[in-house]
Amino acid sequence: MDQLSDRIKSLPSSATLAMAAKARELRAEGKDIIGLSLGEPDFNTPDFIKEAAIQAVNDNYNSYSPVDGYVDLKEAVCLKFKRDNGLDYKPNQIVVSTGAKQSIANVAQVLLNPGDEILLPAPYWVSYSAIATLCEATYKEIPSSIENDFKITPEQLEAAITPKTKMIFFNSPNNPSGTIYSEEEYRALAKVLEKYPDIYILSDEIYEHISYGAKNFSFAAIPNMYDRTITVNGLAKAFAMTGWRIGYIGAPEWIAKACTKMQGQITSGTNCIAQRAAITALTESPERIQFMVEEFKERRDLILKLLGDIEGFQCNVPEGAFYVFPNVSAFFGKTFRGKTINTASDFAMYLLEEANVATVTGEAFGNSNCIRISYAASTEQIIEAVKRIKEALS
Ligand code: GLU
Repeated sequence: MDQLSDRIKSLPSSATLAMAAKARELRAEGKDIIGLSLGEPDFNTPDFIKEAAIQAVNDNYNSYSPVDGYVDLKEAVCLKFKRDNGLDYKPNQIVVSTGAKQSIANVAQVLLNPGDEILLPAPYWVSYSAIATLCEATYKEIPSSIENDFKITPEQLEAAITPKTKMIFFNSPNNPSGTIYSEEEYRALAKVLEKYPDIYILSDEIYEHISYGAKNFSFAAIPNMYDRTITVNGLAKAFAMTGWRIGYIGAPEWIAKACTKMQGQITSGTNCIAQRAAITALTESPERIQFMVEEFKERRDLILKLLGDIEGFQCNVPEGAFYVFPNVSAFFGKTFRGKTINTASDFAMYLLEEANVATVTGEAFGNSNCIRISYAASTEQIIEAVKRIKEALS
């Protein structure tokens, strides 16, 4: 153990994956756990995408692919950026990676030096801070609260900037809060960033299609942000393709080139079958996946209604993604069977042990009053889970 590097010793485990693993372990022991911890659509990958993958196998796609992705996939990504986001990217600005997580890690590795600082509007996805730490960069959280719909203000952004600030990791629709910034709010934040031309923006738009009315905007759509924005997206969430591992960036060419160099030493090109399937997924109209979004919306409405009946849960209305992020601090200080719930982590652990429901503590997302509940689960599971939570809390 002691022989491990300081790097890995100081790296926290991914809280989302750790909770999913814990739920799996308890299930293997015979416990009836309902897993609402992982952000993973419970749908199967649509048939038209699976068929493209089968075709790719039969067409003998089995060799190394170009490190940055097949050219026709990069063209499909450009088409998607134009069609869905109004963004003009050329194939030499695109890098396809093994999931958006690798895309983000690549960008961090090529832009951050030890001692650089990144800004994280909180709550934020668990791996942003860990990825920055791996680069020996530091991170500064910009807090938000349920009262302002988990959005940061331009004033907060400006106050957080220091001479060390190198990047901001921005995520809308947001994991874990479901918050979507409006175009006007994007522009107001960009106005601040305009004054600091050395700050780069990583705009994580992986949940863009999972939105219940409000259309997400893109930082790169603001002309003087384009040259310093890295737009991250992927297929996992919208196309129910979590295990296929396809993410991508659109970025200034010099950043894309550097990410390709990084990836060339770590993983090489992404899985070739998944890439061929991704071409089909991205070239088809987003209409073909709308049925899943509609289903998620019904589940959101359902879980909000059910949680609304539990005294002590305070929720906002998430406009996108598939999570609710209730404030559960009303339960802090309560004791059961000799154990006191003092934190969101204690609360999530209590739900796991007493209700057999897996959620994730908000502490992992930079908010210590909330827990994250994923409603990417069946209606029956949602109803049963909230019933159990209510009983355990009564
Ligand atoms: N992004 C998903 C989540 O937040 C998947 C797990 C992970 O990679 O963190 O649950």
